[in-house]
Amino acid sequence: MLTEIHMAFVGGDARQLEVIKKCIEMDATITLIGFDNLESKFVGVHQKDLEPDIFLNVDAVILPIVGTDEEGNVESIFSQKKLVLTEEHLSKLPKKAKIYTGMAKPYLKKICNDLQIELVELLDRDDVAIYNSIPTVEGTLMMAIQNTDFTIHGSNSIVLGFGRTGITLARILQALGAHVKVGARRPEHIARIYEMGMVPFYVSQLEQVVYDVDLLFNTIPETVVTAKVIAAMPHHSLIIDLASKPGGTDFRYAEKRGIKALLAPGLPGIVAPKTAGQIIANVLTRLVLEQFGNQGGK
Ligand code: NAP
Repeated sequence: MLTEIHMAFVGGDARQLEVIKKCIEMDATITLIGFDNLESKFVGVHQKDLEPDIFLNVDAVILPIVGTDEEGNVESIFSQKKLVLTEEHLSKLPKKAKIYTGMAKPYLKKICNDLQIELVELLDRDDVAIYNSIPTVEGTLMMAIQNTDFTIHGSNSIVLGFGRTGITLARILQALGAHVKVGARRPEHIARIYEMGMVPFYVSQLEQVVYDVDLLFNTIPETVVTAKVIAAMPHHSLIIDLASKPGGTDFRYAEKRGIKALLAPGLPGIVAPKTAGQIIANVLTRLVLEQFGNQGGK
């Protein structure tokens, strides 16, 4: 239980509601900032404005998936008020307090570094990334189905990258009956892809393997789907790029060549905000419990 642990939530979207729900169930003391337009009010939580003194007794500050922008703005879909988180706010935190977010921009990293406050970036964690790959892949399949006139079953599909998202995607495509080739750069990944019954290739050979591709999925956050690669693809093929912005595809050339290429960021929050929120909630509460649980909060 999170009894006597004080958690302050600053901003967020539908995903954060799942986190708040779980923390309430676990008996944390909760302050909400930037949730004034919330339709279903939570019982027993305190709604406050963003003032420095709020942070005086807080153990854990919970920020949205994208913590702040480079000016300190925190997004909240539940408030019209501007939320700007500054060093002055966070300087009021007790020494052992922690800040949890999905990912942090340099602005937030610098403040935490200057104040010597630990910052936990949840999306960096393998467990979160692997759980997140489930809604990501479901969203990817949805996009593939919506943008083609053929089945995934029987298609020639290529997955680029054999990391936390690429592995899940390749496995699910194979389970659906696609002919799956996977591009990686490490020999041990090539061996594992072969062991899994798929066709491995080195990403450097991509240009040579795309001649019959129907669906090309990229998870590599570097420009690997170059103009040369796109020039070698059939006209009917579809590119779905999952890598973080700006993706790994030469979108300009794809458009010029008439090949549909879609950048698909943030799929978990779009196709399954409840599940995406529960993933964060489960990992976050475990981390907070590990950190503060034995100390009875303060
Ligand atoms: P990951 O586990 O780090 O996997 C990335 C893969 O790319 C690794 O296998 C890595 O190979 C490979 N790679 C990187 N640079 C390469 C290069 N130059 N040549 C060949 N391979 C290269 O990351 P992830 O968690 O799967 O996420 C992948 C991307 O998807 C990230 O950009 C992430 O932000 C994004 N993402 C998007 C969504 C969405 O909704 N669209 C959801 C989740 C994640 P090594 O293993 O050899 O390093």
